[in-house]
Amino acid sequence: ATAWILAKHFDGFPKDSDFQVKVEELSEPNDGEVLLEAVCLSLDPYLRPYSRVLMKEGDVLIGTQVAKVIQSNNPAFPLGSHVVSSCGWRSHSLSDGSDLNPIMSEWPKDLPLSLALGTVGMPGLTALYGIEEVLGLQAGETLLVNAAAGAVGSVVGQIAKIKGCKVVGSAGSDAKVAFLKELGFDQVFNYKTVSSLEEALRSASPEGYDCFFENVGGPFSTVALQQMKDLGRIAVCGSISTYNDANPHQMTMIMKQLKMEGFLQSRWADKHPESLKRLMGWVKEGKLQWREHVTKGFANMPAAFMGLLKGDNTGKAIVAV
Ligand code: NDP
Repeated sequence: ATAWILAKHFDGFPKDSDFQVKVEELSEPNDGEVLLEAVCLSLDPYLRPYSRVLMKEGDVLIGTQVAKVIQSNNPAFPLGSHVVSSCGWRSHSLSDGSDLNPIMSEWPKDLPLSLALGTVGMPGLTALYGIEEVLGLQAGETLLVNAAAGAVGSVVGQIAKIKGCKVVGSAGSDAKVAFLKELGFDQVFNYKTVSSLEEALRSASPEGYDCFFENVGGPFSTVALQQMKDLGRIAVCGSISTYNDANPHQMTMIMKQLKMEGFLQSRWADKHPESLKRLMGWVKEGKLQWREHVTKGFANMPAAFMGLLKGDNTGKAIVAV
């Protein structure tokens, strides 16, 4: 059996020398165990950021594969059946079944088993949950998805079409753009060749975006945010453009599954009178302490303001004329 190991932790963009082949001696499967042979292996962006977190040098690279059972001492996984295994970058592996998922029994004969690693696997589920559970995408809304021609993105756009939405996608080559048009995306552009990303996003949907399925992060994200409609929703699925950075900050949002929502206090303007009374009540009761940082003189407005940005104030900064 052969395996690929992480010879050296990635530093920036992965290099050949970070990977190394290792020969593994496998014993005969024990009771309850199966011997698997890899049929096809998944390549997933998560390896790059997760390698630092989940792996040490010398470990077999993490990942999933479709494998065939070539010896079985476990009736749940009969000889010749196929499974999705998370045994990593291995040609062969032993398993007690706990890390295996059988390929669904009604798998159509004319479809490749590799789909279990893509559209009918983890990436497809990611697309579906992002749309239904995170974004709550509704018919008639406009959705933006980046890395749109990839495993997740291509499913995102198509599910959004199934739901009756307008879909805008970006991808990194003209061939990918053509593919996305074939899939029925409404507007597609090559983010590498457009003269202005902002303009491309605006002309693809002048009225803005209700939902953004974010796979890329970095500068794309900054520009895309400007094109969101008020109260828009963003599903932060990935930030692949930052995976080779030392600290891909959006990755923390994903790994900790944080929810971040922008708001303006004015959204609850109808509650203001009641809320002000509650605040005043707490002040009167001594439950709300307050302090002010007072700068004297209207002429000192700019200095006071700059002082605020430098952190001169404790409590509310005001200028007393
Ligand atoms: P893809 O099939 O989309 O492959 C990655 C694509 O990303 C590339 O083809 C490339 O497309 C694009 N890309 C690569 N580098 C950059 C870069 N520097 N800037 C912009 N785009 C880049 O991968 P997946 O569909 O498997 O994953 C897509 C995203 O979803 C990833 O961020 C991944 O981490 C995330 N993900 C998250 C999951 C979750 O549970 N949250 C689960 C699965 C995936 P192009 O030519 O268009 O640039």
